[in-house]
Amino acid sequence: MTDIIEQESCDVAIIGAGPSGLSAATMLKKSGIQRIVVLEREAEAGGIPRHCGHPPFGIREYQRVLTGPAYAKKLVETAQSTGVNISLKTTVTMLGSGGELSIVSPAGLRKLTAKRVLLATGIRETPRSARLVSGNRALGICTTGALQSMVYLKNRIPFRRPVVVGTEIVSFSALLTCRDASFQPVAMLEEKLRPSVRWPIYELTRWFGVPLYLQTEIVNILGNERVEAVQVSDKNGKVRDIACDGVLFTGQYTPESNLARISHLTLDPETNSPDVDEFGRCSDPVYYAAGNVVQPPCNQAKVPIYYVAGNLPNPVDNAGQCWSQGRAAAKNIVKDLAGNLPFS
Ligand SMILES: Cc1cc2nc3c(=O)[nH]c(=O)nc-3n(C[C@H](O)[C@H](O)[C@H](O)COP(=O)(O)OP(=O)(O)OC[C@H]3O[C@@H](n4cnc5c(N)ncnc54)[C@H](O)[C@@H]3O)c2cc1C
Repeated sequence: MTDIIEQESCDVAIIGAGPSGLSAATMLKKSGIQRIVVLEREAEAGGIPRHCGHPPFGIREYQRVLTGPAYAKKLVETAQSTGVNISLKTTVTMLGSGGELSIVSPAGLRKLTAKRVLLATGIRETPRSARLVSGNRALGICTTGALQSMVYLKNRIPFRRPVVVGTEIVSFSALLTCRDASFQPVAMLEEKLRPSVRWPIYELTRWFGVPLYLQTEIVNILGNERVEAVQVSDKNGKVRDIACDGVLFTGQYTPESNLARISHLTLDPETNSPDVDEFGRCSDPVYYAAGNVVQPPCNQAKVPIYYVAGNLPNPVDNAGQCWSQGRAAAKNIVKDLAGNLPFS
């Protein structure tokens, strides 16, 4: 086992180098906070947009239409140009009281104590395991995020004829990824009566020649080494097989709040996000949270126009909104460090 090698301190530690973490870091630095560190578990900074190989990103932030990777690069360059230190391949594994973080990096284990900590760890899609779909653990099962990371960052293709599960906006982004990688899904499944997105977005299925099956649920995945088929059940309970070589689970977002869950921080029981006040401050006032790790309850979320009312998935903010939330949290942290933030 590696020894704990260092005990460090800083003014603000930011966990996650996505749009919210990077915009917060830039704002803090510009506001004169000196000792800031951004801790990012991936080998590159930029968060989810790094592997969204499509526009539009950056309109609010840079008044330009950028692809996800170009936007991520710009966010990183902007932060670094102000002198922000981004520590890559660095995972925070524990949040302690008083801002003491446990960290694992290639250099080993270490502790870092920050006067303030910002959680900016984002969201993720619900994977197969958490959806309780039965069947073997065959090769060829992933989420949109994993697919996009394979296609756009690693030049790999996990399947050629997948079934796509879900009809959220990200499900159609998954179809575009399949098209970019030159392969064709064999079906798109939606449990509900209607797709989650409005017309004409769901017409993409027709344009791409992908059959859309409504009121159809995946019940079993068949295949030993690789996926060979899925069993689906329709509204009458009739079960049939669809031959395929992969299953792409899309959407059903959930906050990436595991760190908060195993810590002393209070979670919102409805959303599983860290509980925050109007300043973005958590139940331990040393900690703040911003970006998509903080999800509003469904009934308070602003509904994007592309979703069908009554058929809403879990709320999710886009990159520009998360970027703004990071800046807002940073401004509150600056006030707080100066002793100018009231208790709520
Ligand atoms: C599959 C998918 C596709 C999406 N597509 C779009 C899109 O096309 N357009 C759009 O506007 N939005 C999209 N989104 C929404 C996306 O969440 C936001 O655009 C934006 O990236 C959120 O910013 P964030 O900073 O809150 O989190 P993220 O961008 O998710 O960044 C969080 C960062 O925290 C890091 N992290 C997490 N835990 C730890 C830890 N313990 N230690 C260290 N680092 C950690 C992660 O590695 C990540 O880099 C998509 C989301 C998903 C999941």
